[in-house]
Amino acid sequence: MNCTGGDGGSTRRQVCPSDQFVVEGDSTSLAYRSIWIAVACVAIAFWILAFGFGARGSPAALFSHFYGDGQHQRLAGNGKCGREYIANRDHAGGDLGTFSAAGDWLLGGLLAADTFNDGKSCLSRREAVLYRKALPWKPSSYLVKSLRRYEARHRHCAPYTESYNKTLSLLQNLTEMSAQTPECKYVVWTPRDGLGNRMLSLVSAFLYTLLTGRVLLIDSSKDMADLFCEPIPGSTWLLPPDFPLGRFHTFDRNHPQSYGMLTKNKSAVPGGRIPGVVYLYLAHNYDDDDKAFFCECAGEGSLSLQKIPWMVMKSNQYFVPALFLNPAFEGELRRLFPEKEAVFHHLARYLFHPTNAVWGLITRYYWAYLAKADEQIGIQIRVFNKKTSPFEVVLNQIVNCTLSKKLLPEVMKKHNEKNYNLRGKLAAAAGSVEGGDRKRRPLKAVLLTSLSSGYLEKIKDMYWEHPAAAGGGGEVDVSVHQPSHEEWQQTERGQHDMKALAEMYLLSLSDALVTSGWSTFGYVAQAMGGLRPWILLTPPGKGREPEPACVRALSPEPCFHYPPNFQQCGQGKDKRTWVAPNYVKLCEDTLTGLKLVQPS
Ligand code: GDP
Repeated sequence: MNCTGGDGGSTRRQVCPSDQFVVEGDSTSLAYRSIWIAVACVAIAFWILAFGFGARGSPAALFSHFYGDGQHQRLAGNGKCGREYIANRDHAGGDLGTFSAAGDWLLGGLLAADTFNDGKSCLSRREAVLYRKALPWKPSSYLVKSLRRYEARHRHCAPYTESYNKTLSLLQNLTEMSAQTPECKYVVWTPRDGLGNRMLSLVSAFLYTLLTGRVLLIDSSKDMADLFCEPIPGSTWLLPPDFPLGRFHTFDRNHPQSYGMLTKNKSAVPGGRIPGVVYLYLAHNYDDDDKAFFCECAGEGSLSLQKIPWMVMKSNQYFVPALFLNPAFEGELRRLFPEKEAVFHHLARYLFHPTNAVWGLITRYYWAYLAKADEQIGIQIRVFNKKTSPFEVVLNQIVNCTLSKKLLPEVMKKHNEKNYNLRGKLAAAAGSVEGGDRKRRPLKAVLLTSLSSGYLEKIKDMYWEHPAAAGGGGEVDVSVHQPSHEEWQQTERGQHDMKALAEMYLLSLSDALVTSGWSTFGYVAQAMGGLRPWILLTPPGKGREPEPACVRALSPEPCFHYPPNFQQCGQGKDKRTWVAPNYVKLCEDTLTGLKLVQPS
């Protein structure tokens, strides 16, 4: 198929309509797929005849190989996204396992080989690898094994299994401490606040279940099932609708069965007994009694947490750094994550696979507006307080940051219109043919995300009204795009959250990223993309800009905004002299927060 607008030997990337994945089954894609199915059937017959069933690989895997290969070849035409495939296609073997190793379909082992048995029910799971740049981090083999163990446990303890039903019967009761601990124990995650907050707390809850041998189930009453595919092959992480959850929705830090209240009021649970459920309230406004949860050493805490069958958790925090600071988990975490700056990156790529509807939003936008660019710069703008962060201040801050850090090109304001070489301009724009090679200016695509549209207009105008200077002389083209401007936060409204997820994902595909301090929306984008963003600091108020306008993040990891005071954990006699390990640092955007970094 011809690529419209293709320019042969141009270094600029061109997008073919056929490069795109078609999410809804249009006739073209169906035709392609039919051809692949036919090819796969012939290949399967050949394989059976040639090698018999004892040979390596399976018909399903072979089909997957052909299906995947076709997808890749269409993408490979673009140059950027298919680069892993292009580099490895000659080594692609005949079964999914071999093919995966070559194309890293399984994300370095994060995903199980049987992940792809779901066919096309979750397109992002198999196609995401094509859109991401190769990053230096590979999941440790220990993490990979731990995930496979977790999956087996999850399947064994999934809703309505015998083990699940047994543990469910303990929910309402007090049990003798001496009684046998149930085979399956659970963390029930309940949503709170915006999508960024939810994704951070969900990853934290998942890591906690990995460390404590529990199973994670999520309250599906909100729109989570519309946003994410099921992460565990052959099972579900959604809490069944008939789970007696009603009262859980309203639980807050003052609930009599919350961890904080139970530790405060020891007489609530008679001696020698354990409750069937404990509520963990771990949101920003929790108190010291709730925070003491992070000081619990597995099994040794005042509530014998390890024995309690159900934990219902509500959090809007990325509390992973606190798990790293708990001596009970330190050794295990060291083995799981030798690279401390990639914890969210690995776990998020394991857990969060956008549903086909969201994947459609992501891929359509990507191919329409971003794929052609030589470089993609993401700018995430989140204004929490319009009084202290008025429009003009934030706009100046963005311009100062992006120009001073050379993320965006300077504009040539003193351009002499008299000397303006119109003929030369037109020739350059049309592409002057020299030796069959067209000369084109490089293209920078700016992906801007914000609830309002004002910033887009200003930045777009800046590059429309003036030429932009390329680093080594000459000019560069700048295109500026903003997928939505929803005006205000509308958490848990289906389409709104879908767009939010799509935008976080698109930002994460950037080559360089600018984020807004304190924003969990930005944290998700940076950590999923493995990017160390430039963080726009919060303006001090009174119409002043912060100085500097932005700082470089120490690592792609999100910030834990409200960590406990580790003095109270008895890990340091005095807060002022307590020394955190060298992989935990204060956040760049808030000095109350902690984040994981790679020790230098
Ligand atoms: P935070 O408040 O910045 O920490 O991020 P959250 O994601 O937790 O909450 C903000 C919510 O507001 C998002 O989940 C979206 O629903 C909405 N929102 C904020 N900024 C944007 C944006 O740039 N684009 C879209 N589509 N939604 C946004």
